Amino acid sequence: MQTRTDVEKKLKSSRGNLLAVVLFSAVNAVSALSGSGFGFFFAAVIPTILVEVGQMVPAYSAICTVAALAVIALYFVCYLLSKKNKAFLVAALILFSIDTLLLLLTLFLGIDFMTIVNLGFHAWVLSYLMAGVKAWTDLQKKRYEEEPVPARESKEPSTKKCAFCGEEIPSDAMFCQFCGGNIGEKEEADQRQKQQEEEAYKRRKRQEFEEKGLNILFDDAKVMEEANMYRRFYSKKACVSYLKSKAKEFGLGDIELTEEDVE
Ligand SMILES: [Zn+2]
Repeated sequence: MQTRTDVEKKLKSSRGNLLAVVLFSAVNAVSALSGSGFGFFFAAVIPTILVEVGQMVPAYSAICTVAALAVIALYFVCYLLSKKNKAFLVAALILFSIDTLLLLLTLFLGIDFMTIVNLGFHAWVLSYLMAGVKAWTDLQKKRYEEEPVPARESKEPSTKKCAFCGEEIPSDAMFCQFCGGNIGEKEEADQRQKQQEEEAYKRRKRQEFEEKGLNILFDDAKVMEEANMYRRFYSKKACVSYLKSKAKEFGLGDIELTEEDVE
């Protein structure tokens, strides 16, 4: 599966090719205007053809030049706006497809090597534009994997109170600088005690469960008070899922309980 960065890279290289087409087309148009006969392949042919037609028919010279520049400007607008809007990359693809078609048609005037090479370049640009449109679609439909966000450093408090004398000491201190109390040992002991208490509690609950079944939930006044609140203010379903989560907390695992049980 591609990542979001992969998709964005494809879109970027597609637009990069489009920008190259704009620049080389502009150079070719200027070159044709000056009659140098020099031109790049990596360009749209329509602007150059327009300029050449203008030179052959002087009456249309101005309008042909303006049209040629307008076509190049259109490509440039597509390049600029395709960053934010997929439609402009599609427009560029359509424009360049027309350009390719026209180039293909010139083969009927006579097959020459340069046109074949130019068609190869056109195919290259078309494939990049199509990849760009696909990348745009992938971005819209979120067909990519989101890169894992680097975990933020947790902001733990930098101080804590000494368990013996109550003074503020660094949170990672093992000994208290005020009373010399062994914080590390105390914390470890507390942790162990807490764990033992939890285990003892679960053991007790399991034993109780073996004796009374689900009644250990139903006999627990505090649990039932909450369960009733869920039933009254939310729904029976909420009540059931609350009781189920309580059962898990008691170490009973998944219990069979339906909405009828909490009538
Ligand atoms: Zn202390």
